[in-house]
Amino acid sequence: MNRKDFMKTMAFMPLFASSSSLTELNKVTSTLKNSERMPVLFLGHGSPMNAIEENEFVQGFRNVGKEIPKPSAILCISAHWETKGTFVTAMQHPPTIHDFGGFPQALYEVQYPAPGSPELAQKTKDLIKTTTVGLDDQWGLDHGAWSVIKHLYPDADVPVVQMSIDYSQPPSYHYALAREIQKLKNKGVLIIGSGNMVHNLRLVAWNKLNEAFAFDWAQEASDKMKQYILNGDHQSLINFRSQGKAFEMAIPTPEHYLPLLYALGLKEKDEEVKLFNDVPIAGSLTMTSVKIGN
Ligand code: ZN
Repeated sequence: MNRKDFMKTMAFMPLFASSSSLTELNKVTSTLKNSERMPVLFLGHGSPMNAIEENEFVQGFRNVGKEIPKPSAILCISAHWETKGTFVTAMQHPPTIHDFGGFPQALYEVQYPAPGSPELAQKTKDLIKTTTVGLDDQWGLDHGAWSVIKHLYPDADVPVVQMSIDYSQPPSYHYALAREIQKLKNKGVLIIGSGNMVHNLRLVAWNKLNEAFAFDWAQEASDKMKQYILNGDHQSLINFRSQGKAFEMAIPTPEHYLPLLYALGLKEKDEEVKLFNDVPIAGSLTMTSVKIGN
């Protein structure tokens, strides 16, 4: 080793030492401990107003929050974060994003100050081998995440990480990606897909916004989806584009539907599936939510 190389080595040594002691520290303070297998949720989020209104859906979210063990962290796949490539939020303090327009001021004032979890972001990235997951420091919590999670954990005391939906990938990619992060369920992590199974905003009956009814095509699509979910026929749900006219109208764009495929991809053979908030709204939306496991 010549002098120059020696100096280089010396220069790197303190850095090296401090980063390995940081790793040690992380191990000591790790929040992702081995746990009983956590359930997985798909939550129909509907209107952002559900964040501040009192109704049967909010009650349903609260109930499910009480039924399940308190998680060490949440990983949420929201319909409202679409990217090229797959990313996870990796900041310590994700901001509350008000990603909607034309709602009352009270909704813009909602803050959901749950911490992030750089540790869970890194762990998710490490588990996923089929693509390189990016660590994001620009996003935060969009309303697909906070408008529902706030009802499960109103004290904002569970760290939340979001994972984005890669819009360039086919449905099978999202289902397979979910299978790669199954291990998180044994680390106390609650994985939530947030979207709506039937979601066609162009056909919403604006004069019946709060009415529990479905157009015929919406009912047909909803019934078939539920039948596939309860029978474990995930392949038909992955192939939603070959399911005919009712599905085409129920899923004009896939972003609100794909979080369901993440939830189903996380299901293990022996796990039970339960539906809740199983109500259509305004003709062209369903709030139907799914709990997988206990
Ligand atoms: Zn939405």
